[in-house]
Amino acid sequence: MTGSLFIITAASGTGKTSLVKQLIATTNDLTVSVSHTTRSPRPGEIDGHHYHFTTEMAFVDAVNNSEFLEHAKVFDNYYGTKEQSVRAQLEAGVDVILEIDWQGALQVKKIFVDAVMIFILPPSVATLRQRLSARGQDSQEIIEKRLAGSVTEMAQYVNFDYVVINDNFEVALAELKAIIIADRQTLARQQDRYASTIAALVGTQA
Ligand code: 5GP
Repeated sequence: MTGSLFIITAASGTGKTSLVKQLIATTNDLTVSVSHTTRSPRPGEIDGHHYHFTTEMAFVDAVNNSEFLEHAKVFDNYYGTKEQSVRAQLEAGVDVILEIDWQGALQVKKIFVDAVMIFILPPSVATLRQRLSARGQDSQEIIEKRLAGSVTEMAQYVNFDYVVINDNFEVALAELKAIIIADRQTLARQQDRYASTIAALVGTQA
């Protein structure tokens, strides 16, 4: 049985990381891919858990060795998803979330055409600004830069299959879960998961 690939994209400050963390904690057979990045760790971030923090030289080497499924430059830093670990998880039947920017999302969709693309939007500009400031880990200059970048990012929502508005955390979480659960009941996945049961029920008449 093969897992599904979910791409979750949002402007920074939308609450995407907290939602994904809770989604994984409360859903079986679902994991999030740990990206590689050249940016420095924020306080509390653990190498190998939040990101694989890497040098630009090592990142470029991995790009040249075609190790990335996708990669992109976001806010002056490089981010990328290693292909091998994602494929291994999918082949083990685990659903994988890629928490990546829109540039990476569109690259992945070209390779994994069945990938389910989810865009998370904040409920308002004011909320977005407040969430970016409340994080308290970035300078004002970086916050303003991220806000400006958010507009470019959010304009990409039209390329996605689903749009979730993160106003109330629990509601947004339930909506994300509904998307994952619905995908698990699609014909293709059920035929894959219950091949022998379905064969016993309907034989070769289907
Ligand atoms: P942050 O530095 O705030 O953790 O992430 C900045 C942006 O980079 C976010 O939009 C995040 O989704 C994106 N990002 C994180 N990992 C990856 C990745 O592996 N590939 C791409 N394309 N974007 C990523």
